[in-house]
Amino acid sequence: MSTLRFHAIKETFNRKPVEVQEPERRSAIFGKNVFNESAMRQYLTKTSYNSVMDAIENGKKIERSVADHISTGMKEWAISKGATHYTHWFQPLTGATAEKHDAFFETIDNGQSIEKFGGGQLVQQEPDASSFPHGGIRNTFEARGYTAWDPTSPAFLYGTTLCIPTVFVSYTGEALDYKTPLLRALQTVDQAATAVAKYFDKSVTKVNPTLGWEQEYFLIDKALALSRPDIMLSGRTLLGHSSPKGQQLDDHYFGSIPMRVLNYMRDLETECMLLGIPVKTRHNEVAPNQFELAPIFEETNLAVDHNSLLMDLMDKIADRHNFKVLFHEKPFAGVNGSGKHNNWSLATNTGVNLLGPGSTPMKNLQFLTFFINTLKAVNDHEELLRASIAGASNDHRLGANEAPPAIISAFIGSQLTDVLDELEKVTDGKLSPQEKTDLKLNVVGKIPEILMDNTDRNRTSPFAFTGNKFEFRAVGSTANCANPMTVLNAIVAKQLIDFKQKVDKLIKDKKMKKDDAIFNVLREYIKDSKRIRFEGDGYGEAWEKEAKKRGLSNNKTTPEALKARVSKESIALFEELNIMSKVEVEARYEIEMEEYAMRIQIEGRVLGDIARNHIIPTAIQYQNILIRNVRGLKEIYGDNFKKFGGEQLNLIEKISHHIESINKGITEMIEERKKANKIENAEKRAKAYCNKVKPYFDDIRYHCDKLELLVDDEIWPLTKYRELLFTK
Ligand code: ADP
Ligand code: MG
Repeated sequence: MSTLRFHAIKETFNRKPVEVQEPERRSAIFGKNVFNESAMRQYLTKTSYNSVMDAIENGKKIERSVADHISTGMKEWAISKGATHYTHWFQPLTGATAEKHDAFFETIDNGQSIEKFGGGQLVQQEPDASSFPHGGIRNTFEARGYTAWDPTSPAFLYGTTLCIPTVFVSYTGEALDYKTPLLRALQTVDQAATAVAKYFDKSVTKVNPTLGWEQEYFLIDKALALSRPDIMLSGRTLLGHSSPKGQQLDDHYFGSIPMRVLNYMRDLETECMLLGIPVKTRHNEVAPNQFELAPIFEETNLAVDHNSLLMDLMDKIADRHNFKVLFHEKPFAGVNGSGKHNNWSLATNTGVNLLGPGSTPMKNLQFLTFFINTLKAVNDHEELLRASIAGASNDHRLGANEAPPAIISAFIGSQLTDVLDELEKVTDGKLSPQEKTDLKLNVVGKIPEILMDNTDRNRTSPFAFTGNKFEFRAVGSTANCANPMTVLNAIVAKQLIDFKQKVDKLIKDKKMKKDDAIFNVLREYIKDSKRIRFEGDGYGEAWEKEAKKRGLSNNKTTPEALKARVSKESIALFEELNIMSKVEVEARYEIEMEEYAMRIQIEGRVLGDIARNHIIPTAIQYQNILIRNVRGLKEIYGDNFKKFGGEQLNLIEKISHHIESINKGITEMIEERKKANKIENAEKRAKAYCNKVKPYFDDIRYHCDKLELLVDDEIWPLTKYRELLFTK
């Protein structure tokens, strides 16, 4: 095995940056492989084009006869660019994207053949759904699954395949993917936010939630990654002593990007441009060999698709550059892990960012309305929001003092805190003209000005207001953004619906002016959602105590956190908004619990295998060298040998002690795994894996890592941290 390690290291010595072709101007190739508006104008009839645009902008259904025309145009476009196949492209609950390619090619009579792609094939397909996670939905409903075209996310060409973004649902209509509930949530928040935005501007007819994600990742040399079974099978290192140099010098963050990596990024970005993913920012992150990529924000459904597509591209293109991308939230102990910040806002079809302060008091009241409602939504549903980012790998980050804690709170900055404090004092009932003028001049009117100087950014907050958007920072780097975005948009939708009812009621029953009613309701919301606001250090122990006092949840593990998904309130929320039925919510819960248990199971198996079959034999091998050495000393020095062999004897004993501890740990862990595997109920099984199996990992690792420090480097089988992290 150590030969594999040295072979891999040697391979990295000869690496050269892979040459890449970049276009002269990115704008010239942007969206070239997307069936976007300009391609549609060229390849579709006016009726077909209008029909797709109507579907995108107004959610109108596309007639079957029109779909036939659209599919023909789409096929012609794709074939003109070298496509041979098409696929429905969807996001089942595995977290990865799924595709099944079919050729356009079809035979007709007389041994002849044509290229065909009908409306039916565009609109709907039936992949065999039985092998995707369904959480019992299919058993309950005897349902085959089908995929259905989502015209709001444009088809694109990848390689020689036309990819058509689709939803994936069972025949009885239950969602089997991430996209379906997301689309429902986006539609709901659109309606709710539009209704509220009309208080301020009657011409608003649509509100689009926007998402700008920031993707963190590690790039590890492919040969080195391949030499580590834990990285290959579980996405992270399950053992490995920390490198003498880690990130303590802060010399990687924003440093100059290594050439091999830069060429990888350029290659990736060129592909992104062709696919219409508007990537913009790239830089080194905090940990060695850690990087980040961020695009310009987009409408949420498209942004989610683009992030999924990007992760797939990153993987494929890394291979070309002899890298392996690690998306895991914590691939290496002792250095920073990776997250995926989700910047979120609401934009009207009139071009206004509803979370952006404006130039007039009226615009600022609109800003405050959406701002305070968002805080209230997060306050009321903090536990559900925490559940939306839960997963075995993200557990390593949340609460591990490098990422936001497992406690959800919102940071808004001192100036906005002052504004809310002022608004809290607003008179109960109708406001006097004097008070209104005062508010407009001194509180609401001052917002853009003060925000300009508000550079105070609290990096420890999981949900921070950053000037014109909220940044949800606790999302995991491996996550499909659809999950947190579904929940965030759903809770904000629910909140805005409640808000509008309250305001309307005050206007109607109390004959209040619209402004007065809005101020009155906001005042109560500010009071009600105080506990969610936290400006201090989110990593500190003091906050844990304080949060507990405030009644905020602190669910540190996935099985604990997921519970909130199936609470009565959550199910009621999703049902009321028509985003998910009880069956769908429960199915997802089951799938996530199962996935959690499986991930820990895989890690346990890999760890046991490496420790027992790689580490212990190596330790024994080294111990034998020491024993031979001591024997030799005894031959030479007789009874006096201890004078020279004392340290060796000491080492022999230490090695035995570590071997014993490792073996004992593995044996016990396997016992606990066996017990856990017998548990039928997914929730209980996940809990057993979390509380009974996982705790062995640290101890087994500890002894393996100690051995790494003792054993001769020449025979150590596993590629070391310093090699994984510092090979460029
Ligand atoms: P940082 O958080 O790294 O300091 P920025 O404030 O420039 O950086 O923006 C971070 C991300 O926020 C970018 O990826 C950008 O696309 C996204 N973003 C900016 N405005 C919005 C918005 N209105 N809605 C959603 N995302 C946005
Ligand atoms: Mg950020």
